[in-house]
Amino acid sequence: MRLFPVFAFCVSLCSASPVFGETTMPAVTVDNRSLPWMKGACESLQTQLIAKYGESQRVRLQRGLHQVAEFWRSGDGDEASFKEFVLNNFAGDQSTLNTMFNRFQGLVEQLNGHMQEITREFRQQADLDAGPVLPFDDLFAGYDPSAHVVDDFFNNKLAFVVLLNFPLTTLEERLTQGPDWNRQQWAEVRLAQMFAKRVPAEVNLEVARAAAESDSYISQYNIWMFHLIDQNGQRLFPPKLRLLSHWNLRDEIKADYADHEHGLAKQRCIQQVMERIITQTIPGVVVNNSRFDWNPWTNEVRLATEFDADSGDTAYGNFSNAPEPSTRYAMLLKTFQAAQKVDPYSPTAPSLIARRFDEDREIPEQRVRAMLEQVVTSPLVPKLAALIQRRLGRPLEPFDIWYDGFRSRGAYTEAQLDAIVANKYPTAGAFQKDIPNILMKFGFSPEKAQYVANNIVVDPARGSGHAMGASMRSAKAHLRTRVESTGMNYKGFNIAIHEMGHNVEQTFSLNEIDDTLLEGVPNTAFTEALAMVLQGHDLELLGLAAPDEQTHTLKTLNDFWNTYEISGVALVDMDVWHWMYDHPEASPQQLRDATVGIAKNIWNKYYAPVFDKRDVVLLAVYSHMIDSFLYLPDYPIGHLIAFQVEEQMRNAGAIGPEFERMAKMGHVTPDMWMIHATGKPVGAESLLSATDKALTSLAPQKK
Ligand SMILES: [Zn+2]
Repeated sequence: MRLFPVFAFCVSLCSASPVFGETTMPAVTVDNRSLPWMKGACESLQTQLIAKYGESQRVRLQRGLHQVAEFWRSGDGDEASFKEFVLNNFAGDQSTLNTMFNRFQGLVEQLNGHMQEITREFRQQADLDAGPVLPFDDLFAGYDPSAHVVDDFFNNKLAFVVLLNFPLTTLEERLTQGPDWNRQQWAEVRLAQMFAKRVPAEVNLEVARAAAESDSYISQYNIWMFHLIDQNGQRLFPPKLRLLSHWNLRDEIKADYADHEHGLAKQRCIQQVMERIITQTIPGVVVNNSRFDWNPWTNEVRLATEFDADSGDTAYGNFSNAPEPSTRYAMLLKTFQAAQKVDPYSPTAPSLIARRFDEDREIPEQRVRAMLEQVVTSPLVPKLAALIQRRLGRPLEPFDIWYDGFRSRGAYTEAQLDAIVANKYPTAGAFQKDIPNILMKFGFSPEKAQYVANNIVVDPARGSGHAMGASMRSAKAHLRTRVESTGMNYKGFNIAIHEMGHNVEQTFSLNEIDDTLLEGVPNTAFTEALAMVLQGHDLELLGLAAPDEQTHTLKTLNDFWNTYEISGVALVDMDVWHWMYDHPEASPQQLRDATVGIAKNIWNKYYAPVFDKRDVVLLAVYSHMIDSFLYLPDYPIGHLIAFQVEEQMRNAGAIGPEFERMAKMGHVTPDMWMIHATGKPVGAESLLSATDKALTSLAPQKK
């Protein structure tokens, strides 16, 4: 079972749905409690089957009957068919159970693999650099052949066969008992998890609708920057600059550190805009609209006096600066209300919060919270803040949570690197041919390098590149890489090495793993960490000098500051979801006030002491908070995991064998994976100690 996408898109996170994942939930109502015969039927089946198979089967049988009963509804059959089903499908001895397990494992691999094959083929025109995309190509690309598989498996009763024979588990059980399970037991647990939910189709549809609606709201939330007027009546930004909230606004703040003349004024202006969005005091009329000039301090709006975009002929006879009516929070509420409807059909994780932490992340919320708090309360924060303040030459301002000045110039220009890469890789085929050499440079043996290379197909990508795993051993992983007509450029090469890292992980964690039901890694943060390790050595692969110590130090400080920032964002996301579960009847306005209060509270606790300013709301600006169902904690956890994996690789020396050893662990809990990989569970220590070292090395004169 895969709980993570089989694609790895690294620039933007992808939404490809695995056959069995949280996005494809089964679709029938659980109304077993209204089946009057169920209790008696289970009791008589228990007596009958224990008589047949012996007392040793009692515990398994009771569990299996309970699991089937929990999901069986009247439409699945009457008492007689229920009894017949159980009598025919309970595997009462170990040898039958093993046969059942092996067949399911083999066939689930075939199912996943062929679904992946259809998806890959259907997306070919959209994904590859292969001529124009016609409108129907997008329809093929959007088709998900596995959308109804879980429904089908409940309807044909294969899901009930699994539930009758293999254990559903809670995260608590996986964490406390998991380390003692053997590999087959783990694989059985993953098999059963595929059918841990049976959600009615109309509920799934509602979730999808809320997701689509909020996504569409977010994806059109642009600010026309030329039309922002500052306190002096000046336009700070160039014509036609249209920035999507929050991504482009945040990235503009980052880029403005390089603008020594107007950067600070622009950053202050963007902070003002962000605060208006969060508090929903932004005039509704200026959202995605270039017809108005807006002063985000006074909130004055007037018809634009200069034009920079084709806005059509819309006449605005009457307009006002009336605030957006809390639409942002109405969208969030809809996602909450939809997610909440899934709760009754998900007995082992009966809230969205539980599904995110217990199923997707498999790290308890309390532990995640503790790790994030360890970062935001670290004594390293004020030290790094003082360093940033010195580099800026002014007191910190709230938007400096996005400080971006820890970048060092490389030893080579982009043009030099482009020429070297284009010469080496004029075509995608040239890159394909070189993969065994590349892998040997990472310390893989010639045989191993060739073996992995044989399992990777390189295709020319339409976009910047991505990796797509095989999902069955008879197929190959695909590496999509961008090659210009003048050959591959450096950026394309850097991405290609990252995507190749995904393919190497995919190959080991599928083809070399003992049980294919354990294919993959615990979650996307792990495959990203492994891919980034290879990507970080791209210059050496070209025969050039590795980045120097200074570059490494600055990168560590940059990563730590980013983790500090995004940890607060994640804590806000978590508190807001708890508030919604505590106040299910809230109005959008109440949710707005609560979110603003939560953001201020987190800021005042962990940021105000460093920034010397209270009641800042900026941590609530992330768009993911509105449309991504409690996704944000994945970012800081990802940073922590990446540091742990990197540190282990550095300590181990040769990357190849260590990479293989780690990747073959497969889809167990993050802590089990990390203990196997590094000897320690997932945690913040690697990041903190690397940051400590980096800070010390930057300030030797202060000792
Ligand atoms: Zn990636």
